[in-house]
Amino acid sequence: MLFKHCEKPLDKTGLKVAILGAGPAGLHAAGYLACRGHEVHVFDKLPEPGGLLIFGIPDRRIPKDRVRSSVRELEKVGVIFNTGVKIVGKKVSPEVGDLLARTSINIREIVERFDAVMITTGAWRCRKLGVEGENSRYVYTALDFIFNIRLRELGYSESEPEVREPVAVVGAGRTAVDVLEELCIRGLKTYIVYRRRLQDSRAYRELSRLVTRYNVKVYELRQPLRILSSRGAVTGIELAPVLIDSDGKLRVATEREREVLECGTVIEAIGEEPSPPLDEETARDLGVSLVGGRILVNENHQSTNPKIFAAGDVVLGPSSIGQATKTGLAAARALDSFLRSQLRR
Ligand SMILES: Cc1cc2nc3c(=O)[nH]c(=O)nc-3n(C[C@H](O)[C@H](O)[C@H](O)COP(=O)(O)OP(=O)(O)OC[C@H]3O[C@@H](n4cnc5c(N)ncnc54)[C@H](O)[C@@H]3O)c2cc1C
Repeated sequence: MLFKHCEKPLDKTGLKVAILGAGPAGLHAAGYLACRGHEVHVFDKLPEPGGLLIFGIPDRRIPKDRVRSSVRELEKVGVIFNTGVKIVGKKVSPEVGDLLARTSINIREIVERFDAVMITTGAWRCRKLGVEGENSRYVYTALDFIFNIRLRELGYSESEPEVREPVAVVGAGRTAVDVLEELCIRGLKTYIVYRRRLQDSRAYRELSRLVTRYNVKVYELRQPLRILSSRGAVTGIELAPVLIDSDGKLRVATEREREVLECGTVIEAIGEEPSPPLDEETARDLGVSLVGGRILVNENHQSTNPKIFAAGDVVLGPSSIGQATKTGLAAARALDSFLRSQLRR
């Protein structure tokens, strides 16, 4: 239930709010603000609202029907959805899912047209290893891989990403778990390559369950140095051993013997980064401060431009549905107070 706040909807304020990004943070904010009497327009680059609830997390964990029925409820309370619209700054960074956007709008135009703006665009930029051979065929980032599997399940594409065995999954975080699970369910021979010990991963419990159940071979304390290819397609990864110093620091021992792990596909699951629809220059023009690629907000989730708020993974970095929802709602409350203080002037 997205809007218990709507038991007694308030009179229309005549004020317009734009919400950029329709994941859990944006959807919860939209429900709250619509019930507080504002005209709420949600923009999202993907063909339907839901963010990672629809295009990331598998149906067995978050049923899509539930998300879709919440979106219908939001429409009933007047929220206007604009899907297939990517919000951009002056410089556009490539992110997962961009190909599905039908059109783009500059964020400056949004800021001028609306009384307040909430940015909830999540963390859709994937970290890369930055090694030679990374642009070969059959090299994917984890989010791109999962996203394309969901597109196929949802009927937005006809095929899944093409995979050749064995598959090397580099990384051991939560997204690596989901990648591994998809590969194992399909019966594909898979390895994990991790630069720490598997037991040091925050996702150790889930990973070790899959490793045992599907007999996955783990190459721990290994750092990929380059991806090997033949005729443009992956054939293996060169790995160097990683040593742990007495103070716990990791050191890649390039002087030691390297090994080649033969594989047909590499999936880089080394994390995602916040993806605000603002490059440095646009942020500066709008008076919004970015810190390490994240939008800087105060305790009211308000950016350094008072009419722009932000919440969810775009502020926190990859987090959870609970955190995104909590910050989305808190930001919506603060945005509502901001608008009401403007009305009183
Ligand atoms: C594979 C995977 C599995 C996960 N599983 C779980 C789980 O089981 N439990 C859990 O608690 N958490 C899980 N998470 C984390 C959780 O999904 C996120 O923390 C949460 O969805 C973040 O919500 P959000 O609203 O901030 O962003 P998102 O859900 O990422 O939504 C952001 C939205 O913004 C849109 N967008 C981005 N850029 C633009 C732009 N420039 N213009 C227009 N639209 C844009 C995107 O299309 C997207 O719809 C998982 C994450 C991943 C990647």
